[in-house]
Amino acid sequence: MSVTTRIAPSPTGDPHVGTAYQALFNSIFAHQHGGKFIVRIEDTDRTRYNATSEGRILDMLDWLGIVPDASPRKEDDLGPYTQSQRAELHQKYAQQLLESGAAYRAFDTPEELEERRKAAEARKDSFLGYDRRDRNLSREESDRRAAAGEEFVIRLKAPLEGQTVIRDRLRGDVVFDNSILDDKVLLKRDGFPTYHLAAMVDDHLMGVTHVIRAEEWLSSTPIHQLILRGLGWDEPEWIHTPWLLSSGGKKYSKRRGDPSVEDFRKMGILPEALLNYLGMMGWSMPNGEELFSVADMQREFSWERVSLGGSTFDVTKLKWLNGRYLREVLSEEDVVARVRDYLNEFGSGLPTEDTAYFAKVVRLMTPRLEVLGDFADKTTYFWSDDFAVDEKAQKAIDAGKEHLPELAGRFGKLGEWNAAAIKQVFHDYAEEKGLKMGKVMPPVRAAAAGTMESPDLPEMLEALGQERVLGRLSRAAG
Ligand code: GLU
Repeated sequence: MSVTTRIAPSPTGDPHVGTAYQALFNSIFAHQHGGKFIVRIEDTDRTRYNATSEGRILDMLDWLGIVPDASPRKEDDLGPYTQSQRAELHQKYAQQLLESGAAYRAFDTPEELEERRKAAEARKDSFLGYDRRDRNLSREESDRRAAAGEEFVIRLKAPLEGQTVIRDRLRGDVVFDNSILDDKVLLKRDGFPTYHLAAMVDDHLMGVTHVIRAEEWLSSTPIHQLILRGLGWDEPEWIHTPWLLSSGGKKYSKRRGDPSVEDFRKMGILPEALLNYLGMMGWSMPNGEELFSVADMQREFSWERVSLGGSTFDVTKLKWLNGRYLREVLSEEDVVARVRDYLNEFGSGLPTEDTAYFAKVVRLMTPRLEVLGDFADKTTYFWSDDFAVDEKAQKAIDAGKEHLPELAGRFGKLGEWNAAAIKQVFHDYAEEKGLKMGKVMPPVRAAAAGTMESPDLPEMLEALGQERVLGRLSRAAG
C-alpha cells in the first residue's frame, strides 16, 4: 500500500498543540508504511493570516524532530506546498465544477447576504446557511452577468435530498442527511479558494491517500466528498482523530488559554516528552508502557488501538513525564546540554559556560527537576550568596542556630572538602551531642541554600565549596 499523509495547518497564530498532535500521527502512519508525510500551509484565508505563523509552525516541527518529506521548506514537483501559491489551480478546478454543473455562480453581495441572514434569524429559521437564491439561475444569465463584470462567488451545488455516507476508519459509516448540507462557497469574490475547495484539490494533486485530521472536520467531509466526486476523483481514506480536551473537559484550545507548543517549550518541556505525551492521547502501547519514543510508537502503531472517547491533556502529567525523561531517558551529559541550551535560549542570566561546576549543579538538581524552566529558580544559591531565605528555612535556622558555630569550626578544619568527609562531620557531631541527624542537618541546609527543597546535603555542600559554606554558616549564626 502506498501512503501519503499530510497536515494542513492554517498560519493564523501560535503553533497549536493540535497541529503537533496531527503531525505526530500523520508522520508515524506514513513512515510506518514507507510513505510520505507532507506539510501544506493553508494560507488562503487572508483575513486570519499571520505573517510569522508559517515559520513558527515549521520551526515547531523542527524542534519536535518531526521531519516532513515535503513542505514549503522542502519543495518537490508536487508543490508548491504553500496554498496561496496554487490559486490558479484552485480557480481551474472551480471552473471545471461550474462547467459540469456541480457548482454555480452566486451574485449576492455581502450586504444582501447579511440582510437575509438577519431576517432568517428573526424568523427563528434553524438553517442559517445560504438560502440558495442563485442556485437555479440559467446558465445564460449567469454567464451574461459574469461577463458584465458583476462580482460573484462559486458555490457547491449540494444535493437537497438523500444521504451522504462517509466511511471513517475509526468510526465506520457516518451518515449525513443532505438536507443539512450548505451550498458552501468554493471560490470567493477575490478569486481565492475557500478551505474546502483548496484542501481537496491539493490533497488530490499531492497524492494524499489518507486524510488524518481532527474530529472537528468530520462534519465538513460530506462537502469534501462532493467536491472530489464533482471532479471525478477518488476519495482518500478518512480518519478523524479524537478530541484533545483540556482539564476542564472542554476542547483543548489555545484561545481559551491552554498552552501552545511554544508555551511548553518556554516551560522547559523536552520535545521527546511532548511527543510521548501526545502519543498517549487516544492511543496506547500494546504493553501498556507509558514511556515510549517515536520509533517505538511507529513500530507498534495501529488504528485499532485508538480510542474515540477524547483524551484529556493534563499539563501536570506532562511535566511528570518530562521529569522521567530527565532522569530515566537522557544521559547526564545530555541533561547538562539541554539545561544549558534552555538557559541560553530564554536568557536566565546564569553563567552557563561549560564548567564542571555547572555540570555538577545540573546533576544534583536533576532528581528535583520536572521542567527545565524550574532550574534557574531552584538553584539561585548555587550562583550567588545573595539568595532569599524562605519561611521554612528561617524556622530551621532559628531552631538550630546554636549548632552552626561549632559545625562551621569543624568544617573549617577539613583538609579535604568532599561529601564523605562532610557527612562524617555531621555524624560525629550528632553522636557526641546525642542528637539525631534530623536536628543537625536542617539548620545547615537552610543556611547554605535558603530553602529546604535542595539536593542531598553533603553533596550540595561539596559542590558549593568550603569557603562559601563557611561564609553562609557564620552569616546565619550571626
Ligand atoms: N487548514 C485546516 C486547519 O487549519 C486543515 C483541516 C484539514 O486537515 O483538512 O486545520
